[in-house]
Amino acid sequence: MLQIQNYLNGHLTPPRSGRYLDNIEPATSQVYGQIPDSGPEDVAAAVAAAEAALPSWRRLPAEERGRLLVKIADLIDANLEHLARAESQDNGKPLGLAQIMDIPRAASNFRFFGTAVEHFATEAHLQEGIALNYTVRHSVGVVGCISPWNLPLYLFTWKIAPALAVGCCVVAKPSEITPATAFLLSELCIEAGLPAGVLNIVHGTGPGCGQAIVEHPGIKAISFTGGTATGRHLAATAAPMFKKLSLELGGKNPNLIFADCDLAAAVATSIRSSFANQGQICLCSSRIFIERSIYEVFKTEFLKQLELQKIGDPFEADTKQGALVSEAHLYKVLNYIRLAHEEGGILLAGGHRVTVPGRCERGYFLEPTVFENLPHDCRTNQEEIFGPVVTLTPFDTENEVIAWANSTDYGLSATIWTTNLNRAHRVAQALHSGIVWVNTWLHRDLRTPFGGMKNSGIGREGGLEALRFFTEAQNICVKV
Ligand code: NDP
Repeated sequence: MLQIQNYLNGHLTPPRSGRYLDNIEPATSQVYGQIPDSGPEDVAAAVAAAEAALPSWRRLPAEERGRLLVKIADLIDANLEHLARAESQDNGKPLGLAQIMDIPRAASNFRFFGTAVEHFATEAHLQEGIALNYTVRHSVGVVGCISPWNLPLYLFTWKIAPALAVGCCVVAKPSEITPATAFLLSELCIEAGLPAGVLNIVHGTGPGCGQAIVEHPGIKAISFTGGTATGRHLAATAAPMFKKLSLELGGKNPNLIFADCDLAAAVATSIRSSFANQGQICLCSSRIFIERSIYEVFKTEFLKQLELQKIGDPFEADTKQGALVSEAHLYKVLNYIRLAHEEGGILLAGGHRVTVPGRCERGYFLEPTVFENLPHDCRTNQEEIFGPVVTLTPFDTENEVIAWANSTDYGLSATIWTTNLNRAHRVAQALHSGIVWVNTWLHRDLRTPFGGMKNSGIGREGGLEALRFFTEAQNICVKV
């Protein structure tokens, strides 16, 4: 049994209460480990350790901090197989996906921000003969980083790395549902020689542990990725304390397929954008709008390629669809499938729980599911499902599809398939989405601003945006 510990002040320590929670492997539904059920006392100890470490960490030259982050990146690379297996077992995702996406990206996060901080310049404003203004960016201080279960190490490190790079000390909490790789990261930080207290990882539930991080007066900024309802609650707690907030929340992303697209590429990528990680990526497109003249041909090809998505043991090399993350989440998605039927949807594929024989026979597997005949404004097409469920809808005009794409409360990402350059730019700029991909999906450049509009969040992560978020700008004006 893997017994996870908190990472406090440079040491692996049990929770103050001595209580642990079960950790379940989604592919088997069996308990395979335990995680600390930490509470406010553990968070207070983590904040105290971070505050004690802060003066020397923020004084360290950026190159020194960066060097340590790059060392952690190298250790992640060196332990890729071990980390990928842990991620797959903890989350239910195919091992192959963790090997090529989750873990390499976690290393890239540390390497990117560890080197970016050396190029993090500041501004000067010269009023000739009168005054010189220059901006100093101080690290905010001790910050909280809270991340979800869908891309556990990938998103955890996406927050921690920029915070550490600019000289913040961090109290971080991974999702209690997927804590394993965050624990392995603590071991790698110790091995890398990260000074005690600079990064503290507390494990536990959202209400018990996450809430204590948000409420603690010593935490000056919160970077959160998770559901919109949790984000709203978190903002209500943090705003009266005037904490800086970065919220990366839910999505209901549209995928617009125009008749002039490269159909083969659009179909192949739409399979990925619909079902990668069992549809549990905030950027997955769940509403596919297809220009009517190619609706039937797209549908036929899409359903044909869907048959190649083998559902199976996440550890098997040819598995494309692993298990959903938990039993509760499986039932949430099954309820949405029931709703889609009630709303008049026609089921084209999937729709049922799957039994995978052998060690996974009790796992939380679900067929990739496709519906058609649902209006753009029904609940199935408006609410985030966050599972392997998509709808196909024909459209007639560009204005119509833009209106439908923009009709939800969310605005995280969108995808457009067209070979018409003018249309690509025109439609992209008309969409209310923080990220728009044209003829591609999930193509990431870590320098770009990342985040959502409307109920998909506040603020942007990535590149300079992340470095700026974790700093406080101070203007100094010198009379010449
Ligand atoms: P949740 O909002 O349930 O949880 C996110 C994190 O917040 C978890 O660590 C959770 O802990 C913690 N948490 C829960 N309640 C509180 C609280 N009161 N105070 C502080 N922390 C709390 O989201 P999920 O984990 O279910 O993740 C799925 C959601 O994340 C989806 O809506 C998805 O769209 C969104 N997401 C957004 C992304 C983006 O970049 N915009 C990227 C990836 C996902 P615990 O799990 O232990 O309860």
